[in-house]
Amino acid sequence: MPGKNKEFKACKNCRALVPQDTPKCPVCGSISFSDDWSGIVIILDPESETAKLFGATVPWRYAIIVK
Ligand SMILES: [Zn+2]
Repeated sequence: MPGKNKEFKACKNCRALVPQDTPKCPVCGSISFSDDWSGIVIILDPESETAKLFGATVPWRYAIIVK
């Protein structure tokens, strides 16, 4: 369910998941976040196929869908 996990919010720019009290995305610097997200993918290796498919360049946890 979207927004089920309110512990985190998702960056609207890069989809990084950060704690609710984070003012600025530590991955891309955006200040635009959404509580309406679902699915989590954890990128450990930016060179992996998963990271490339996902477009992630920084090891982090990301939401799969951000509305
Ligand atoms: Zn971001």
